[in-house]
Amino acid sequence: MSLNVARTVGQPQEAVTDGFTLVVDALRANGVEKIYGVVGIPVTDLARVAQAEGIRYIGFRHEQAAGHAAAAAGFLTGRPGICLTVSAPGFLNGLVALANATTNCFPMIQISGSSERTIVDLQQGDYEELDQLNAAKPFAKAAFRVDRPEDIGLGVARAIRAAVSGRPGGVYLDLPAAVLGATVPAEVAQASVFQAVDPAPAMIPAPESVARALDLLTQAERPLIVLGKGAAYARADEAILSFVETTGIPFLPMSMAKGLLPDDHPQSAAAARSLVLGQADVVMLVGARLNWLLAHGQPPRWSAAARFIQVDADPVEIDSNRPIEAPVIGDIASAMAAFTDALRPGQVTVPDAWWQAIRGRTEQNVAKMHARLTADATPMNFSTALRAIRDVLDGHREAYLVNEGANTLDFGRDILPMYRPRHRLDSGTWGVMGVGMGYAIAAAVESGDPVVAVVGDSAFGFSGMEIETICRYRLPVVIVVFNNGGVYKGDEVNTHSADPAPTVLLHSSRYDKLITAFGGTGYQADTPDELGHELRAALKTGEPTLINAVIDPAAGTESGHLTSLNPRTH
Ligand code: ADP
Ligand code: MG
Repeated sequence: MSLNVARTVGQPQEAVTDGFTLVVDALRANGVEKIYGVVGIPVTDLARVAQAEGIRYIGFRHEQAAGHAAAAAGFLTGRPGICLTVSAPGFLNGLVALANATTNCFPMIQISGSSERTIVDLQQGDYEELDQLNAAKPFAKAAFRVDRPEDIGLGVARAIRAAVSGRPGGVYLDLPAAVLGATVPAEVAQASVFQAVDPAPAMIPAPESVARALDLLTQAERPLIVLGKGAAYARADEAILSFVETTGIPFLPMSMAKGLLPDDHPQSAAAARSLVLGQADVVMLVGARLNWLLAHGQPPRWSAAARFIQVDADPVEIDSNRPIEAPVIGDIASAMAAFTDALRPGQVTVPDAWWQAIRGRTEQNVAKMHARLTADATPMNFSTALRAIRDVLDGHREAYLVNEGANTLDFGRDILPMYRPRHRLDSGTWGVMGVGMGYAIAAAVESGDPVVAVVGDSAFGFSGMEIETICRYRLPVVIVVFNNGGVYKGDEVNTHSADPAPTVLLHSSRYDKLITAFGGTGYQADTPDELGHELRAALKTGEPTLINAVIDPAAGTESGHLTSLNPRTH
């Protein structure tokens, strides 16, 4: 396969371009700078052409991790992250990431090569035969197939527009091998590639919806602003800060909105979460959904009398779990600007009693947390290990944090503060495991800043092989595996046979030794002091490092904070 933009074949000589080149040209025309993927038939040359034309190709060991990386890149940059896969099995491996991107509202495009259409459609048994377009549809915001090379420009533009406009999401783009290999006259090719104009247009909310929302806020005795990852994604940091500070309303960040306003901001109600959820009378949701992560907005977590404002790009989200009195449909940047313009000085005031209640509960909870964090636990438990990480990260606020696992996630969310927007990536809306290495790689590749991935031993296993990818690209990623020897806990005993209990993993595992096989640095940490020391050293070198943090197998709880979701209570 020629890698030239135009090559000459036949008589008389005519300049032609092939499908591979057209795809790369279309991506470049739309500002795509990176592709995450795994190569193989029929897409290997796509990665080669991309590299030749200045797109950075990051090659993974498994498509799921590549897809998670693309999705995280989408969240971090506001532009669609691209995941490239081979046909059928590679395509299916990427689907979890595509579905996760859609669920989390991250803009991402999975581009997969596919087999011969005529053979697939008649089910004649092709190499890696699968009707990929239809398989992808339920998991994607949109799905397209390009059947003619001259349509590649349109297909790429539509995929980009679908991924980033309105509520962002995962998009599938199917590229049959025959289309990738086909040639078209260079002139036709050139004319078919274009840059999509304004792919994520501003959505200005209706002025009456803004007035209705402000009117409701004015009536509040105990107002609350909930910031979700949609607010972080919107890159309206200044406008949100200004609205929060002008109105003086307490705010609660959802986990990936941590750092949008710094966690030590005086108006943060994070340490009084139960109190504010239970007592708020007017709640303004900004880019946050009333899903399971917010107890569906239902009593007893929430007051039955609470009244809701919801700012969201997607009108269909409104009333999903309880009636929303003041929906504001628009993009968050435009909506916050509209609120600030419409707000009259002194229009919203927060009664002292509300702040007193919040401050009182915050003090109590901070004192309780302090006792847990400073306890002298040997072996380490989640709190004491996380305290060591917190203390080091306090001096590395530029670092990105990736967090997955059960207890590792639940404790990490509460114990590790964030100070910068879009610096925390975690299991998100689905509570999915296996995002760790893909998210960490994307954060390092997109930002160039250090990344610390704090992951459970079970969670790490889902994408652990990507440490070879981290070492191959020499990314500044430090992985801290919280090794408590199990899923949730490592101390379950099977009384029925000699086999390990279902939740048990090898607590004696030396995860740190894995990374040394690829030239990275491995450490074992048995105490908070060792952990802190090793993390500091790793951040100083910026080299790929894995720390095996040995946690008490009896620490933690089954299902973490989600015990109530277990059908059978223990
Ligand atoms: P969290 O889990 O942090 O609560 P969710 O992912 O549940 O956040 O909710 C994010 C919401 O933000 C989604 O309903 C999505 O439609 C919305 N959203 C995402 N980006 C924007 C944007 N730029 N403007 C407005 N709403 C957005
Ligand atoms: Mg574990």
